[in-house]
Amino acid sequence: MPKAQETVLEIDLKALKHNFEYLKSKLRKNTKFLAVVKAFGYGSDACEIASYLQTLGADYFAVAYVNEGVALRKAGITKPILVLHPQAVNLKTLIAYSLEPSLYSIKILKEFINIATLKKQCDYPVHIKFNTGLNRLGFWENDVDDIVSEINKTDTVRVTSIFSHLAASEDLNEKEFTLNQITSFRSISKNLMDKLAYKPMLHMCNTSGILNYPEAHFDMVRGGIGLYGFGNSDKENKNLIPIATLKTIISQIHKIEKGESVGYNRAFKSNSFLKTATLPIGHADGIGRQYGHGKGFVTIKGQRAPIVGNVCMDMIMVDITNIDCKEGDEVVIFGQDTTAEQWAKTTNTISYELITSVSQRVKRIFSNK
Ligand SMILES: *Cc1c(COP(=O)(O)O)cnc(C)c1O
Repeated sequence: MPKAQETVLEIDLKALKHNFEYLKSKLRKNTKFLAVVKAFGYGSDACEIASYLQTLGADYFAVAYVNEGVALRKAGITKPILVLHPQAVNLKTLIAYSLEPSLYSIKILKEFINIATLKKQCDYPVHIKFNTGLNRLGFWENDVDDIVSEINKTDTVRVTSIFSHLAASEDLNEKEFTLNQITSFRSISKNLMDKLAYKPMLHMCNTSGILNYPEAHFDMVRGGIGLYGFGNSDKENKNLIPIATLKTIISQIHKIEKGESVGYNRAFKSNSFLKTATLPIGHADGIGRQYGHGKGFVTIKGQRAPIVGNVCMDMIMVDITNIDCKEGDEVVIFGQDTTAEQWAKTTNTISYELITSVSQRVKRIFSNK
């Protein structure tokens, strides 16, 4: 990779391939792999990621919202795309782009059947989502009869899959809870399948489910964060490679005398002479204000430079007093050495939040295509 000349997010497609193959190696031969590419592919680039995974053999894709699925179709994704959280207002568009809805309540089920009927659909693939303990989205166990009666009224839809979502698959202290979720999913899906005249696919596992609960792989798994290089544990992080590296450069160097302040609200006041570097990346690029005041740090020439004072919208200032560097030098925020997870830990958040926050104005570049 050439040295950064502005703020860029480098996406390493070889690392993506490694992660995909690692997760796949955990599956039985016939288990399908659904790649979760919501939120711009966890902040990277959903279309590039999905196109590449499509060539590598991903069976299914998932996004959260309809507009994300439309973007994938426009980029040439032909595999089925599950929309995890569609809203009624977008269901016509969903059908127009052959996206497949997750139906999670009687209300959205009825709305979908109405629209699919209006659009003269037959056996339109839908996915029925059950709540088994996350208490976020999904039908309840005792909704099965109502679901069946709505579905059997019409031939517009066909249940392609029945699924649920684990609440704490990464937390082995919650193993008993998770095993209960799995048992409950088995029994709910059996109940529904017995009342349908065919057998839909079953799926339940996110990344940590793939890694920790092989007994819950069923017919398909839904891998997200693992594809991007994070395994939610020190052990699994070692088996995965972060695909995204956020880089920038030094725009300007300042010499700060004792008693001077740096940045907005004079939030930093120096006790001694220091050198700071101003970098063209700020909270509008995804470096939240909580990373100010030394919580976040960047790496320049292999050395750590903590953020000084407040994070501005388009800039941060970092302490380079003891680093031999010059204007124009490359700066790494996070990547394969200092990972987004380590960065996120400095402010008690998680890799998911940090990587999905890299804003759309940051240029994405791809390596190892
Ligand atoms: C986001 C999401 C996933 C992916 O989870 P990871 O922990 O990133 O692997 C899977 N299933 C559902 C329903 C999701 O919302």
